Amino acid sequence: MEKSIPIAKPIITNEELKAIAEVLKSGMLAQGKAVGDFEKSFSDYIDVKNAIAVGNGTIALDLALKSLNIKEGDEIITTPFTFIATANSILFQKAKPVFADVEERTFNIDPDEILNKITGKTKAIIGVHLFGHPFNVKAISEICEDHKLSLVEDCAQAHGAEYEHKRVGGFGTGCFSFYPTKNITTGEGGIITTNDGKNAELCRLLRNHGQSSKYYHTILGYNYRMTDIQAAIGIVQLKKLDGYNKKRIYNAEYFNKDIRLEGITKPHREKHVKHVYHQYVLKVDSNLISREKFMEYLAGKGIGSAVHYPLPIHKQPLYQELGYTSDSVTCPIAEELANKVLSLPVHPSLSEKELKYIVETINNYEVV
Ligand SMILES: *Cc1c(COP(=O)(O)O)cnc(C)c1O
Repeated sequence: MEKSIPIAKPIITNEELKAIAEVLKSGMLAQGKAVGDFEKSFSDYIDVKNAIAVGNGTIALDLALKSLNIKEGDEIITTPFTFIATANSILFQKAKPVFADVEERTFNIDPDEILNKITGKTKAIIGVHLFGHPFNVKAISEICEDHKLSLVEDCAQAHGAEYEHKRVGGFGTGCFSFYPTKNITTGEGGIITTNDGKNAELCRLLRNHGQSSKYYHTILGYNYRMTDIQAAIGIVQLKKLDGYNKKRIYNAEYFNKDIRLEGITKPHREKHVKHVYHQYVLKVDSNLISREKFMEYLAGKGIGSAVHYPLPIHKQPLYQELGYTSDSVTCPIAEELANKVLSLPVHPSLSEKELKYIVETINNYEVV
């Protein structure tokens, strides 16, 4: 194989280029028709009443929490095994992230661990549908109902994923990202989904300087808008999402079937979910395989790989500084996973030849 295979690869075609050119020629570049059209198609796709497009996924999380009235001192329970933005959105509110450990098999937040962390100050739960596998929506929605908590779904890695045949982003307040490595992209971009009309209205206000009518500002807001250039790309990408996900699932099933290397565990999928494989994540048994050496071997053969994520959030320097020390927080499963996980390329551009090459290269690795 002469070319190398990257871990992620956005697919941009002439269709996106044409859509961008149309926006540029129209002269309506920000918060114009394309943004409204994208929101409409996205809310239809997820089957929710409202979608609010914003500048990126981090902003989506920030506005979701603001629309749910999260305030200083509130506690929000979330997973330590995710991208940093999930937990940081809680810090933006001066609220307190409380970390509940994850499930060994799905890598997602464990409902039983959530129950152990609920206090009188708990206001919300942010679950992450990590790597494209939905979290336990049923159990966590029940917890939210019983304890009167808001549910935020971090769907940044799960566009089109389903729990019991219903798309994620429709169970609580959904937050999506369209960063280039995600299942669809707009360059940078994000969107909030909600069935709550009032919260949606608040998100729209906060996104645009609290402006309720032209130059009339009712609350303190921000410039968190999406451009029409981004939205035009998003409209085209959304039409391709199901096809992209189908190919990701095909690739993952190919690996599941043919990878045979001793010392690795392939990703688990719960029966009642549609997993959209934002990442295809293996667990490496460190008694048999050194993850670092294995990654070097793959790189030497032109195969990109990555570790999502090498350090749980409570172990990050920022959080250590905030007092999340080993005495106060333990999430042993997340900590162990951080040492074991390894992501392979699973993006829709992989050819049959590349899939075969990846499998053969892995199966030929000499376990010591
Ligand atoms: C990418 C990502 C985000 C943040 O999205 P941006 O668009 O990069 O701001 C949040 N949470 C998770 C789990 C992500 O993967």
